Amino acid sequence: MGKVLIIGAGGVGTVVANKCAQLPEVFTEIMLASRTKSKCDAIAARIGGNRIQTAAVDADNVPELTKLLLEYKPKLVINVALPYQDLHIMDACLAAGVNYLDTANYEPIDEAKFEYSWQWAYQDRFKAARLTAILGCGFDPGVTSIYTAYAAKHYFDEMHYLDIVDCNAGDHGKYFATNFNPEINIREITQDGLYWENGKWVETKPLEIHKPIEYPNIGPRESYLMHHEEIESLVKNYPTLKRARFWMTFGQRYITALEVLQEVGLTSIKPINYQGMDIVPLQFLKALLPDPGSLGENYVGETSIGCQIRGIKDGKEKTYFVWNNCSHAEAYKETGAQGVSYTTGVPAMIGAKMFLEGKWSGAGVFNVEEFNPDPFMADLNKYGLPWNEEIDKPLSVEK
Ligand code: NDP
Repeated sequence: MGKVLIIGAGGVGTVVANKCAQLPEVFTEIMLASRTKSKCDAIAARIGGNRIQTAAVDADNVPELTKLLLEYKPKLVINVALPYQDLHIMDACLAAGVNYLDTANYEPIDEAKFEYSWQWAYQDRFKAARLTAILGCGFDPGVTSIYTAYAAKHYFDEMHYLDIVDCNAGDHGKYFATNFNPEINIREITQDGLYWENGKWVETKPLEIHKPIEYPNIGPRESYLMHHEEIESLVKNYPTLKRARFWMTFGQRYITALEVLQEVGLTSIKPINYQGMDIVPLQFLKALLPDPGSLGENYVGETSIGCQIRGIKDGKEKTYFVWNNCSHAEAYKETGAQGVSYTTGVPAMIGAKMFLEGKWSGAGVFNVEEFNPDPFMADLNKYGLPWNEEIDKPLSVEK
């Protein structure tokens, strides 16, 4: 049905390549390109069957990427490099007439700040070029946004309260490690918290608000209110929401280690001069920490991510909880990557499949909740991220 170019040979790229390779009737040809070609080659060799072509590309170099796109002529780029590359990859897609999908919104490298404004500003250019850009098609954002769209479509006349709850109850046996790119992860966690209430944003200190939330099959885990990008698009697309929050679990050891790293300045993104050389402390720390792609082998336990929603249906109050639990060991067995990469890579593959099958279409820039959630929800069950739901039971976030 179509050729795709996957950019980024990290943990998520490994899963996307594996999953696309399993569906030759949809992904007729696949190329995996990254800065380091040897990483692409290793992933392609593990998958085997000559399913994956590989290439070296610096996605920040727009002419170089445009040239690759013009030569390979994919129908869609699946961007699973880093958020810093988003705008450059969108520019190259416009220059070469290729559609675009990603899993994380743009962040400038020299400022720890993420918001959709930069990518939403491409709306007119993608419309004029009759191209589709699909933003935020991982798990969160991605599946959480689609869960919300599904709830809105099938269970509510008006949604009022949304809580996205994200638990990683896995254990990789390392003292301190992040589950995806350490630089992006630590920048996200050390930012001020933010949530939406009564028509405005409320700011908190980093990880200031926390409480135990009950996760299915896991039990109560201390969960921290954080700013997360899907809240921004969801409150725009569902204006009846009176409050929208995002919660993520962290173990006490993780928080303590992070505090120490912060206190000594190792999480800073301001360059310092060390022996005549400018280095960014957080980039140096990333070089010391375990590669998230290497965590899979001994990872036990599971993730649990879902949406807890309260609102009105037929004049009556209603609650709805929809979630997925994903086992790290199962993810590793299937793809060679741990659960956090798996829960991001599978939805990216399904989003690409929706586009190639014509189930999601349109010219312009879209967040995933703007598309029909039904075929995507059906494919989650089919391709490794089955979901569960509970209706009109007390929501654990409100206990
Ligand atoms: P990794 O750091 O493991 O992988 C990123 C890959 O991108 C690396 O292989 C790297 O290159 C490549 N890359 C970086 N810069 C460039 C560039 N200029 N040109 C080409 N390739 C480049 O990250 P993850 O796989 O963990 O995460 C990938 C993306 O997924 C991130 O954007 C992350 O924010 C997002 N994510 C989204 C989630 C969601 O649920 N929505 C959850 C988790 C992650 P190389 O190694 O070849 O040098």
